[in-house]
Amino acid sequence: MTTKTTLEKIPFNVSKIRQDFPILARKMNGKALVYLDNGATSQKPNAVIDAISNYYKNQNSNIHRGVHTLSQEITIAYENARATIQKHINAKFSHEIIFTSGTTDSINLVASSFGKKYIKAGDEIIVTAMEHHSNILPWQVLCEEKAATLKVVPINEKGELLIDEFKKLLNDKTKIVAFTHVSNTLGTINPVKEIIAAAHAKNIPVLIDGAQAIPHMKVDVEDLDADFYCFSAHKVFGPTGVGILYGKEKWLNEIPPYRVGGGTIKSVTFEKTIYADLPLKFEAGTPHIAGGIGFAAAIDYINKLGLDHIHAYETELLEYATTKLKTIEGLRIIGEAKEKAGVISFVMEGLHPLDIGTILDKCGVAVRTGHHCTQPLMDFYCVPGTVRASICFYNTKEEIDELYNAVLKAKKMLS
Ligand code: PMP
Repeated sequence: MTTKTTLEKIPFNVSKIRQDFPILARKMNGKALVYLDNGATSQKPNAVIDAISNYYKNQNSNIHRGVHTLSQEITIAYENARATIQKHINAKFSHEIIFTSGTTDSINLVASSFGKKYIKAGDEIIVTAMEHHSNILPWQVLCEEKAATLKVVPINEKGELLIDEFKKLLNDKTKIVAFTHVSNTLGTINPVKEIIAAAHAKNIPVLIDGAQAIPHMKVDVEDLDADFYCFSAHKVFGPTGVGILYGKEKWLNEIPPYRVGGGTIKSVTFEKTIYADLPLKFEAGTPHIAGGIGFAAAIDYINKLGLDHIHAYETELLEYATTKLKTIEGLRIIGEAKEKAGVISFVMEGLHPLDIGTILDKCGVAVRTGHHCTQPLMDFYCVPGTVRASICFYNTKEEIDELYNAVLKAKKMLS
């Protein structure tokens, strides 16, 4: 929480922005919907819905295959979408942008392909204590297959990585470091540049899970010097079922294809296959074409709002919500890192998160309850789960007030 402005001063017309998101006008259990589950998935603006609908109405055909005009048109549109995403994260080449089905798929791709080529018995892979299961399991499976070892960077009570401990873990056996940019459960923004620099000083590549960072802040993969950076469209106001693996050209050229089949080849005989150049080498089968087009529309949309404005507004909203919720007796916030994105996880003394979430839902307030696919983190804090409110730029102070009132109501009803 670094920005010291007031919500009113940020050039952001939230009531106008909300009109771009048709679902926000819905009633939920007789109340106005207060959508605070943006960490799970974000809502979609008309610009994205229209781009997808326009694809199916006017552009539908397959890419990279036909000589006919429709196919050529959509091939250009799909490649333009790739270029939009490339520019957005400042990748050097558009062929460093691989379309996948989401963050989970992107991490699996790297764990499988990088693992096949570079991991052997006795090697070590580093993750952190705050990873989403999607950034644990692919590495765990790889370690089991190759008799390698998973090492875990610990955190402090506030939910910050212990960077000195991380540096101690780096050694000659370390083959890759994989960690999250922003924690989906704690909101912690990790010191990405420092971590990458420390790993690179020992020639160790780094994969970053950017699922929760891309919606909220400017990410520049060149500046970070990330080797791999993974994210999902659906958390950035785009469609489900599509995501990105950014990889440095050097790595993507060196690691073998992941899934193979149509679209990934230069030539095939029964004796030998020669694979296509990047990015097609990693894009087997017909992709989620409407998804790619819709994703680019989402990126254009947030760029029009301005990521700096988004970040400043959300930071203020987070501060407002944190201060307000903390006044409730018995409420404990899980995750109080100095650098935080718009996630507030909390528990209430003597109450189960699921019961709180159920009452909040009756009040029209949508939050997530449970372990948030971070069970090791729940064990660290000795809680069965948390209630998580995750905010974004279309949320308002009034909605935070609704959350606060609903939590008070839940406390009264359940105590
Ligand atoms: N990593 C993080 C930090 C996440 O928050 C999520 C989604 N909750 C994922 C990975 C997985 O994303 P997806 O389900 O879109 O593959």
